[in-house]
Amino acid sequence: MSTMMERYGTAMIKAFGTPQRVLVRGEGPYVWDAEGTRYLDLLGGIAVNALGHCHPRLVAAIAEQAATLMHVSNLFTTPQQIELAERLDALVGGGRHARTFLTNSGSEANEAALKITRLTGRHKIIAMEGSFHGRTLGALSLTATAKYRLPFEPLPAGVTWVPYGDADALAAALDDETAAVILEPIQGENGVVEPPAGYLQFAREQCDAHGALLWFDEVQTGMGRTGAWLESAAQGVQGDLVTFAKGLGGGFPIGACVAVGQAADLIQPGQHGTTFGGNPLASHAALTVLDIIESEGLLLHAERTGAWLASSIEAVGLPQIDHVRGRGLLRGVVLTEPISADIARRALERGFIVNAPRPDVLRLAPPLIVTTDDLQPFIDALPDLVA
Ligand SMILES: *Cc1c(COP(=O)(O)O)cnc(C)c1O
Repeated sequence: MSTMMERYGTAMIKAFGTPQRVLVRGEGPYVWDAEGTRYLDLLGGIAVNALGHCHPRLVAAIAEQAATLMHVSNLFTTPQQIELAERLDALVGGGRHARTFLTNSGSEANEAALKITRLTGRHKIIAMEGSFHGRTLGALSLTATAKYRLPFEPLPAGVTWVPYGDADALAAALDDETAAVILEPIQGENGVVEPPAGYLQFAREQCDAHGALLWFDEVQTGMGRTGAWLESAAQGVQGDLVTFAKGLGGGFPIGACVAVGQAADLIQPGQHGTTFGGNPLASHAALTVLDIIESEGLLLHAERTGAWLASSIEAVGLPQIDHVRGRGLLRGVVLTEPISADIARRALERGFIVNAPRPDVLRLAPPLIVTTDDLQPFIDALPDLVA
């Protein structure tokens, strides 16, 4: 009988390269592979498993909703969908008029937002160097990485990239034909890159001056990951469009595009749609995630645990580690040499899942429920992992 990896290699479209392990089970911040080896999940399914694996309240909520009503199409609505939209509108709008479109992924949330920007009558978009916004053609047209985009051109036109965090470059690129500026409040896939203080506020002022929409892609940063519901709001700025996904469903696929103010009313009936988006099962999962983040105090916990994690890593004092950046439990370990892939491989062999978004940066995005006790063995192992 062929191995799982051989079967994977034969059966799957070759989009992802060779998977590192076959995983079969999870509990809290841990997962187990088919051989029975346990791993501390410091990546959380790439910032998705906000509540860790198999959180009992989320499992029960999904089971209960699945046994009640799973899908109805968007020709109908459900209490779960309405309540989730109201919650997201309140979180993002902060008292201002806001509306939500529910999707199944981050890319689809960005597709919805991109279509909304077109309805301004303008089509120029300013995006950031180093950005990642997804793999569907619209979301891809905004993503900076050339090797992701080039094989799939022609893509929707009109996108200009400016250096992330460079206020002068942003001001120079914006004009009265700009429909929107899209940016991540912290760039996740680029290696957890933070903008300089005041940059988001500057982008807000520039957008206002030119009548452009400010669009925050919070697919990775949002929903508690950085210790706040929205990293943009934590930096004191409100977007006109905000997109979410990853952590929102705690592992259940769901995304959202929230539009504020005039942007909320641009889409008219028939102009956009989705079959699965916002079904009662996904909506109930997301509502439960929001409830648990609130009732378990996970925003503050993520902020504190993330600060402990960053300072503990730096305190080991390894010459290969320059510093740790990011906020809450979205962290980039900046290395002095391009050895992140080697470290990630050794970490896996030692029972730690981390990833290497750049040759000289490790990314850590553990579940928001992770404790310092869970993390201590990783700190202890660091000298061996980087050596
Ligand atoms: C992951 C990610 C996306 C894409 O989300 P998918 O669910 O993979 O489509 C978009 N934007 C950001 C910032 C992301 O991190």
